[in-house]
Amino acid sequence: MKRRAIQRRQTLAMQVLSYGLGASVLLIYAHAGTVSLLIPSAFFLSGVGLVGVFALLSETYVSDRFADHHLAVFQVVGHVVIQLGFLLAAPAIGYAFLNVLFLIFAVASLRMTSLQAAASWTFTTACVAPIFMLASGPIGLPVSNSMERLASTLSFILTIGQCAFVGLYGDSLRKKLYRRSVELADANKRIEELAELDELTGSHNRRCIMRMLDEEIARARRTQKPCAVALIDLDWFKRINDAYGHPIGDEVLRTFAITTFANIRPIDRFGRYGGEEFLLILPDTAPETADRVLERLRVIIANLDWSAFSPGMQVTISAGITALRADESPDTLLARADRALYSAKAQGRNRTASA
Ligand code: GH3
Ligand code: MG
Ligand code: MG
Repeated sequence: MKRRAIQRRQTLAMQVLSYGLGASVLLIYAHAGTVSLLIPSAFFLSGVGLVGVFALLSETYVSDRFADHHLAVFQVVGHVVIQLGFLLAAPAIGYAFLNVLFLIFAVASLRMTSLQAAASWTFTTACVAPIFMLASGPIGLPVSNSMERLASTLSFILTIGQCAFVGLYGDSLRKKLYRRSVELADANKRIEELAELDELTGSHNRRCIMRMLDEEIARARRTQKPCAVALIDLDWFKRINDAYGHPIGDEVLRTFAITTFANIRPIDRFGRYGGEEFLLILPDTAPETADRVLERLRVIIANLDWSAFSPGMQVTISAGITALRADESPDTLLARADRALYSAKAQGRNRTASA
């Protein structure tokens, strides 16, 4: 809300500046004798008064209660009423006030929805039409002496200049919006990555590895290539936790995951299936190759120097390996891998077994 209030403050300050410029031009007309001095002063005061009302609503955060916190339609209505009021009060320089209507709409168009734009346009039409239709004299842009010529020129070029500035401002808003959208896309990507990763080990989490299993099974069917799957479980992990503590157990899981990642191919998929159990998917891999890969991994883990965690520490893994059969579902494939893992455990652990 603070940020929005600052944004509104900037817009309102620019409006005061704009009324200041307008009043300065009117002063020249007054100096030329085209209008009384009352016109520039009343113009400035009513402009600043209206901006003051919106500033009050903004600073008390009342405007934040509205869906459009800039209150665009109300601002358009207020400013249009002022311009048309002065057009009626000083029709001899009426064009100077009509000009400002373009500026009002240029500013408002940066924020308005199509409904707001339609409402603002309808209101302005309802006010302008009777003024034009019922006008008895000319609505002027006087150029009969050099002072008037100067004031009329300034009135035009200052309004056009302000419209151009609004364009620049709109462009900077668009660029900011673009930067935001890029940042948002990056953040979303990061969220997606985090949602797919296991926090502790950095490997894919269960949801993700299960999805990958579905994908790889589908790919193997499509390409008629073999696919092997291994369930890997750390041996006696409860004892590791009990003997060295849970935090060391966590470090062991992390080290195991990193070591595995370092020893598989980029196309292999590795994720935490649960607790100290991991799933390794080996696409395009024949059963004998899968056995060799897992055996090599088993040896690497068993021969790792775990003494950094605790002197004499030993960590081993057991794995149950299966090759995907034709028309096999992920569930039956995993059930067979689990049975193979169970038999590896039953045979004494620190070994691999194939289904
Ligand atoms: P086995 O050789 O038969 O697999 O024996 P085990 O002790 O490894 O098997 P069990 O399933 O009895 O114990 C698994 C242990 O893994 C129990 C649990 O506390 C521990 N564990 C599961 N997740 C984590 C974790 O994220 N961090 C740590 N430190 N321990 C975990
Ligand atoms: Mg275990
Ligand atoms: Mg287990």
